[in-house]
Amino acid sequence: MTPKQVLQLVKTKKIEFIDCRFMDFPGLWQHTTYPVSELKEESFTHGFGFDGSSIRGWQAINESDMLIVPVADTAKVDPFYERPTLSLICDIKDPITQKSYSRDPRSIARKATKYLKETKLADKAYFGPEMEYFVFDQVRYDQGVNHAVYEVDSAEGVWNRGRNWPGNLGNQVRQREGYFPCPPMDTGHNLRSEMSAIMQELGLSVECHHHEVATGGQAEIDLEYQDLVPMADACMLYKYIVKNVAARYGKVATFMPKPLFQDNGSGMHTHFSLWKGTKNLFAGRRYGGFSQMGLYAIGGILRHAPALLAFTNPTTNSYKRLVPGYEAPVNLTYSSRNRSAAIRIPQYSQKPETRRLEFRTPDCSSNPYLAFSAMLMAAIDGIQNKIDPGDPLDKDLYDLEPAEREAIPHAPSELSEALDALEADHDFLLQGKVFTDDVIHYWIKYKREEEVQALRQRPHPYEFCMYFDI
Ligand code: GLU
Ligand code: MG
Ligand code: MG
Repeated sequence: MTPKQVLQLVKTKKIEFIDCRFMDFPGLWQHTTYPVSELKEESFTHGFGFDGSSIRGWQAINESDMLIVPVADTAKVDPFYERPTLSLICDIKDPITQKSYSRDPRSIARKATKYLKETKLADKAYFGPEMEYFVFDQVRYDQGVNHAVYEVDSAEGVWNRGRNWPGNLGNQVRQREGYFPCPPMDTGHNLRSEMSAIMQELGLSVECHHHEVATGGQAEIDLEYQDLVPMADACMLYKYIVKNVAARYGKVATFMPKPLFQDNGSGMHTHFSLWKGTKNLFAGRRYGGFSQMGLYAIGGILRHAPALLAFTNPTTNSYKRLVPGYEAPVNLTYSSRNRSAAIRIPQYSQKPETRRLEFRTPDCSSNPYLAFSAMLMAAIDGIQNKIDPGDPLDKDLYDLEPAEREAIPHAPSELSEALDALEADHDFLLQGKVFTDDVIHYWIKYKREEEVQALRQRPHPYEFCMYFDI
C-alpha cells in the first residue's frame, strides 16, 4: 500500500483515528493515537513528534524528542476499537539527523535484511515462527505476595497435578495430553477460530490452529513463512489479536514461556531458510536433504547459540522452559529427528522448496525483530566462516552413556549465563553495523538490572513453601 492508497482507505472506511504502533526495547507494542485530520501524505516521511524518554530502554530525558514515522504498507483497520481506527506500524527517527533510531528494533531488522543482500549470499531470509501461548480464565491479584495469580480454565484445570488417581476425566483434557483431542475436551476451539479469522481479515496467512500439549488451554496458530521484517511485524499483530480476542471472551492470553510448573511451556520454534530468487539455498544432497550452505548456517547458529539465546530467550522465565522432558530443546545439537536438539531439519516433505531448519529454542518473550536478526547474523557468520556443525545427534539421548551425554553442549541454564555469553561473543552481530555496540551493551545492562537482579532481590513465592516454617 502506498501513502496515497492509505489516504484513500481512510476515506472509504470513514476512519476517525490513526493509531501509531512501535515497540519498546524489550518488545512490547506501544501506541499513540491521532485524529485522522493529522494524517497527510508527508506524514509518511516526516512523521509525528513524540517524547521517547519514558519508553523502556530508550533515550535519556535530555535527548528525548523523536519522530514516529508510519509505514504505509502496514495499515490495518483495527477490529478492536469502537471508533473507526486505522493502525500503522511505525519506524522511529531522530528529528535532527533524520536517521533511524539505532535502538529501534525494527530498524535493526531492516539493517539485517540489507546486510544479507550486501553479502550476496542470498537475497531473502524466510522465517516461520510457531508461536504458542496459554489462555487462562481470569486474573486475580494476590496482594500479599504481590504477583499475579492466574486461575486455570476450570475445564482444563491443574486439578490432578501430582495425583496418581485422576478419577473421572469427563470432558477434561488429560494432563499433558492436550495435543489434540476434539471438543468438548478442547474448550478453546471457538476462540482460536475467532482469532484465526481476524488474523486472516487483517492479512495474515494462517496455515492451521490447534490445541497444544499442556493443560490450561495451551494453543498454537501457525502462520505462513515470510521475509524477516514483515514476519516480525506479523508476530506483533498475532500477539495483539490473540490477547484482544481472549480479553473479549473474558479470558487472558499469555506468551510467557513457562507459566505452569511440571507442564509444557510455550515455545516459538522458528523455521528458517535462505533464498536466491526462486532457489532455496538450504536444499541439497547432504544430511537431511540439506546443502553445505545450510549445514554451515546450522554451524553458525549452534556456535553462537549461548549468546544468541540472550535475544531469542531473553527472560528469566525462558530458562524454566528449557529443561528436559517437556519437548523444549536442551542440547545445542542438530538432528533431522530428535526433538530435544536445538535444531531440527523437518522431514515432512522432501520437496526442495520446503527445506528449512527449525530452531526450537526461541520463545515468544523475545522481541521478534531482534531474535530473527540475531539468528540471521549467526547463520551468515556460519556460512562466511564455514563453521562445521559436527555430527548430527540422531540417537535417543537416554541411550547414551553418561559421559557421552555430558559431552553434548547444552543451552544456558539461566538468563544471566546467556547475557555473559553475549558479552563475550557479539562480533558476529556487529557485522554490517546491524547491531551496534550501544544496542548490545544496553541490552545486557537492561536485562541484568531490570530482570535478573530484580528477580533475585525479591522473595519468591516458592521460598515461602520451602522456608516459611523453618
Ligand atoms: N511446547 C513445546 C516447546 O516448549 C513444543 C511443542 C511442539 O513440538 O510443538 O517447545
Ligand atoms: Mg507447537
Ligand atoms: Mg515445531
